Amino acid sequence: MHDYDLLVVGSANADLVIGVDRRPGAGETVLGSDLAVHPGGKGANQAVAAARLGARTALLARVGDDDYGRLLLDSQRTAGVDTAGVLVGGAPTGVALITVDPSGDNSIVVSQGANARLTPGDVRAAASLLAAARVVSLQLEIPLETVAEVVRAADAGFGGRPGPRVVLNPSPTAPLPADVLAVCDPLVVNEHEARFLLSDDPAGSSDDPEEWADALRSRGPRSVVVTLGGEGALVADRDRTVLVPSLAVKAVDTTGAGDAFTGALAWRLGVGDDLPTAVRFAVRVGAAAVTRPGAQASFPTAEEVAAL
Ligand code: ADP
Repeated sequence: MHDYDLLVVGSANADLVIGVDRRPGAGETVLGSDLAVHPGGKGANQAVAAARLGARTALLARVGDDDYGRLLLDSQRTAGVDTAGVLVGGAPTGVALITVDPSGDNSIVVSQGANARLTPGDVRAAASLLAAARVVSLQLEIPLETVAEVVRAADAGFGGRPGPRVVLNPSPTAPLPADVLAVCDPLVVNEHEARFLLSDDPAGSSDDPEEWADALRSRGPRSVVVTLGGEGALVADRDRTVLVPSLAVKAVDTTGAGDAFTGALAWRLGVGDDLPTAVRFAVRVGAAAVTRPGAQASFPTAEEVAAL
């Protein structure tokens, strides 16, 4: 009935990465390592993370008709992602300029390029892809009206059949319309995204993540997951808020950890796990991803997760 456990609708970027001793402040120049070019972007990352774990995954995205676009298509296909929904042309492939310091912390600037040209019309033209997926996973590196169109179509369903369950990671941060928020199941946020969405709420200045989770839940999403880096993740559904602790690992590079987490989470929901069970799996995937450098290159296979 469903061809895909997971459809990711989102960004595909070339990550241009430079290692630095210290990330530069405003007006400052620092010297760094040789440049490395990697396939990335939150959407592409989530799709690769899920497919590498064994998920039947498709990607709806837009890349440029250029070398970076071909790099991205290659990396998706190598991971086993169905790329029939990846549109080519209209603008240069998106690029992310990333600096990583020795502690693994990073700073990122994104040029959206072709990602900004993924339109609501592209979503309507890909309705069969959406109808064939159990879960659709979204981020905010594509236009908000495109995200809203996916959410609307998923919520309306197809010919009397329910549409895919919606997972949304609102990154980079932006205010979310109530009708988008209402369909998220779950809304997945890290500390920064939680505080942003709660900037008009006393809970946003609390240091208690449970308060963030409960306050976000009261904004209307069906469920909320707050990722807490090395602490793991909080799960808030209708009845309870529970902490799923992380695994103690040596963090080498946290780039893409949240994408690996969310891709894994969305897949497990697609194959029928309940939310806490899916999060328990996803924190293991996130932990594995931070033990290796890079984004997609650091994502584990199911065997590697089991061996952790
Ligand atoms: P983001 O990468 O979006 O900022 P987080 O830093 O919260 O999000 O990380 C996402 C997930 O990756 C965490 O919930 C956790 O499972 C895993 N993770 C991140 N950092 C670490 C770490 N230092 N040790 C173990 N797991 C980690």
